[in-house]
Amino acid sequence: MDLYEYQGKQFFARFGIPVSAGDVARTPDEAVAVAERIGYPVVVKAQVQVGGRGKAGGIKLAGDKDEVRTHATSILGMDIKGHAVELVWIEVASDIAEEYYASFTLDRSAKSYLGMLSAQGGVEIETVADENPDAIAKIWVDPVDGLDEATARAWVEAAKLNPVATEGAVNILLSLYRAYIEGDADLVEINPLILTPDGRVHALDAKVTLDGNSTFRHPDYEQYDETQVRDERETHAHEKGLQYVGLEGSVGVIANGAGLAMSTVDVVNQVGGSPANFLDIGGGSNAAVMAGALEVINNDPKVRSIFINIFGGITKGEEVANGIIEALARVSINSPIVIRLDGTNADEGRALLEPHLSDTLLMAPDMLSAARTAVALAGGKQ
Ligand code: GDP
Ligand code: MN
Repeated sequence: MDLYEYQGKQFFARFGIPVSAGDVARTPDEAVAVAERIGYPVVVKAQVQVGGRGKAGGIKLAGDKDEVRTHATSILGMDIKGHAVELVWIEVASDIAEEYYASFTLDRSAKSYLGMLSAQGGVEIETVADENPDAIAKIWVDPVDGLDEATARAWVEAAKLNPVATEGAVNILLSLYRAYIEGDADLVEINPLILTPDGRVHALDAKVTLDGNSTFRHPDYEQYDETQVRDERETHAHEKGLQYVGLEGSVGVIANGAGLAMSTVDVVNQVGGSPANFLDIGGGSNAAVMAGALEVINNDPKVRSIFINIFGGITKGEEVANGIIEALARVSINSPIVIRLDGTNADEGRALLEPHLSDTLLMAPDMLSAARTAVALAGGKQ
């Protein structure tokens, strides 16, 4: 679950991380009312779940009422990288002496948490990461040991922050780690973390991704589910109760079981294609579920071919075959389909499918050749 900046800042504040006072507004009038309440100068900030708002013109300083109105009017309704701005966050403007970067996330390959800290934060952090990676001080935190003050202090020294910022930064990093762990976050990022001319350290932006599987521990996270930005395909799949993740490619993928669905995505990539989605229809063979899955994929304009990859286990091949046949009778599909059917009673299932095969409904003997056919039908390697 990705949070908006204002939600991220409220989340940070609960863990004692200093953030600027502010409030959200949906209209220029509301924006002015917030500014009048908190005092000038203020910053008007577009609330969209995408980075680079500053560069896109979605963040503006305002010194008085008229400026707030002008900026709120232009930012509300703006399109930032395909995200419409419906909400702005108005906060007390800060004076900036230096901009830093700080984050915690999971490093899966190291089986550890990764903390990153840089004295060169701000809107160019991606360039710093590409061209000057040594300017980012990394630490790996063992989940069992956690992060202690001495380690945080050594980390801040390694990142070569201004010594004036040391105490503030150590405190914020310890709180940020606590927010990451106790808040069940997958990512907590502050960019920029600022040092003000009077020596205070302060979070000026907030990027937070929470673990959606942790809501049982945090009933209040329900509020974030309502403000999730899902693409249209994902919303559609979500309504049908399908395990779907939208991707960018042209081969629609349907598989039974999350592991097989992931392997299918991998094998499509391996033969030079690019999957349009991950979709796990679960263990059943049900025609309704298959029809729903086909519909979701069929509505994706990028899809050029569909790869149905089923390995029968408890579900027998003939049930799967009947499910597919029935589903195809219910929905009319725009793209050619390649089926790989294996596992329990695969031969019986294939025999049932045989009479239905055509130029647009093909069957392949194994997963790899099915992937190759699906990729070729989608227009070849990409
Ligand atoms: P992003 O571009 O989406 O990452 O948005 P940020 O919230 O990080 O803001 C981008 C940049 O705007 C920051 O790096 C700052 O340089 C500037 N900025 C944001 N808030 C303030 C503020 O209160 N005062 C000043 N002077 N600059 C700000
Ligand atoms: Mn930022």
